[in-house]
Amino acid sequence: MSIEIIIKETIEVLKNYKDEGSKIVGVVQHGIFPDELVLAAGAIPLRLILGGEDEQEIGDQYLSATTCPFGRATLGFLEKQHPLYSLIDTMIVGTFCNGVQNVSNYLEYFKIPSMPIIIPHRSTGLVFDYYLNELHKLTNYLEKLTGNKITTKNLLVAIKEYNQLRSLFREINDFRKKPNPPVCGQTIHKLVCQALLLGPKFMIPKLQDFLQQIRKNPPNHSGTRIFLTGSVITLGDPLIETIEELCGGLVVADDLCFSSDYFLEDVNITDSDPFRALATRYLCRNLCGRMIPDSRIPIILELYQKFRASGIINHTLKFCDSYSNLKTDFRKEMTEKNIPVLDLDRDYAESTVGQIQTRIEAFLEMII
Ligand code: SF4
Repeated sequence: MSIEIIIKETIEVLKNYKDEGSKIVGVVQHGIFPDELVLAAGAIPLRLILGGEDEQEIGDQYLSATTCPFGRATLGFLEKQHPLYSLIDTMIVGTFCNGVQNVSNYLEYFKIPSMPIIIPHRSTGLVFDYYLNELHKLTNYLEKLTGNKITTKNLLVAIKEYNQLRSLFREINDFRKKPNPPVCGQTIHKLVCQALLLGPKFMIPKLQDFLQQIRKNPPNHSGTRIFLTGSVITLGDPLIETIEELCGGLVVADDLCFSSDYFLEDVNITDSDPFRALATRYLCRNLCGRMIPDSRIPIILELYQKFRASGIINHTLKFCDSYSNLKTDFRKEMTEKNIPVLDLDRDYAESTVGQIQTRIEAFLEMII
């Protein structure tokens, strides 16, 4: 499905929700944010997942060119009043990284009310309690916004819906282990992006249909098996397409926030405190490079092996502090294990696509 169709479909669905009285809650953070809370309040979470060269340039009016392209592009989409972002009633902002903080600082220009939450970089002891408290603050804000109480009962319903969605994603993702898998990296990424825009009600039946289709009539994907890690890949970012369609690679596994990190871990519904269960899932069991210490390595190694990848592409958006600081240590760890790594630093400028393609092709040739 093309990106234009995904966006058009999302706008139609969200307009219907709004007509029924639901509020649309924009979320700038890529992850470590419990959409379940928003749903339990009777509102619709809408992750900001767009990126693009034109919008990055528009965003340059607000932010310096040494800010991450995602932050600049997000302001660009708001400035040009993109029809998807124009549906947002309120935005969840705050500290996550420099990019998110920069978007937060400029929101008043767009007259969008916002609620800041602090997402810590560590997850233990008092820091965990702090994050839990932030979730309670967010709950109060959402209750005031919607006029609905977030009860244990409706929070559990929301958690179960998201767990079902994640479970379907894991089932689909498992097909990527096969020699010629029926699912490629682009498919998973686009489906997760749709889930981030539309939520479980819309996506659960869609994923059930998709599973039936690939069981009945599985397509075959082939190519050099790649693990993809690093900065966020937005909807419309051509990187995965370039790897798979132009360079002969196949992204068989990843730890990306708009892909595997979205669905690999469930929220524990047996925890007697669903808020604590949400905090545990999102703060302690995520794959985001911004966390200290960086606990991704053993998980990446396990996925790399299970999905039988032959090399890693480590993608960093320029000036993305969450990932650029990790590059050297990451390469060192992987080199010690004889795993080939290609470091790719880029922004949304289309002029660099040819150069990126050449580097990926050379890397794939080397590891075949
Ligand atoms: S994680 Fe990186 S790319 Fe994303 S907003 Fe933060 S700095 Fe920008």
